[in-house]
Amino acid sequence: MASVDFINVRKSFGTHAVIKGVNVEITDGEFVILVGPSGCGKSTLLRMLAGLENISAGEIRIGDKIVNGLAPKERDIAMVFQNYALYPHMTVADNMAFSLKLKGANKTAIETLVKPAAEILGLSHLLERYPRQLSGGQRQRVAMGRAIVRNPQVFLFDEPLSNLDAKLRVAMRAEIKELHQRLNTTTVYVTHDQIEAMTMADKIVVMNDGRVEQIGSPLDLYDRPANLFVAGFIGSPA
Ligand code: ADP
Ligand code: MG
Repeated sequence: MASVDFINVRKSFGTHAVIKGVNVEITDGEFVILVGPSGCGKSTLLRMLAGLENISAGEIRIGDKIVNGLAPKERDIAMVFQNYALYPHMTVADNMAFSLKLKGANKTAIETLVKPAAEILGLSHLLERYPRQLSGGQRQRVAMGRAIVRNPQVFLFDEPLSNLDAKLRVAMRAEIKELHQRLNTTTVYVTHDQIEAMTMADKIVVMNDGRVEQIGSPLDLYDRPANLFVAGFIGSPA
């Protein structure tokens, strides 16, 4: 676990400013959701935390460490993407073990990490299957398994459920929350779905056009929206 701080973070692509001075404090073990309309800068903020984009100004901290300029592998994070990009030619076990192999872990070390992660995710009986032999929900679990085995300080999710059908999406929300309750890893989760944000988050960061409109618990936002944007966004169906 670790805290995460965005301090006056800015990002421009060329002359196009897309993150316009963002301040967010995330405490140890918190489940924080960045929500806002398409194009408001959620993924860019997450990618800067992951080290996949440089920041133009400001500071990002993970724990006590300023991570500006550090490569993704120098940050103690694991990211789960929307298109979970499993390796089609590798089994579930090998998909989950891949990053550990890259880090030079030996076979025993890998087994002691992969087995419990598979157990938690209900994948133990699927370890020798290939991604094409799995359902959408099972693939999503493998993608989460790849993140879990790395035992990171922070989990990052970018719209992990948006490729799933509505029923599965609801089930996976609960699974991700259970996982968080079990591991208590600090989590930053991006979605454009208000209902997902309201049902899953400890704390919601409402973004609009590169800025933060409000930060609060689901109840705070529901009871005391800071402005019309927040009220309209939270109140409207996804
Ligand atoms: P969201 O995830 O909230 O939908 P993004 O963070 O993906 O939004 O994008 C925010 C803005 O930044 C958009 O206007 C998008 O077109 C722009 N943008 C994102 N990535 C790049 C890039 N690599 N180059 C130029 N513009 C980008
Ligand atoms: Mg996005």
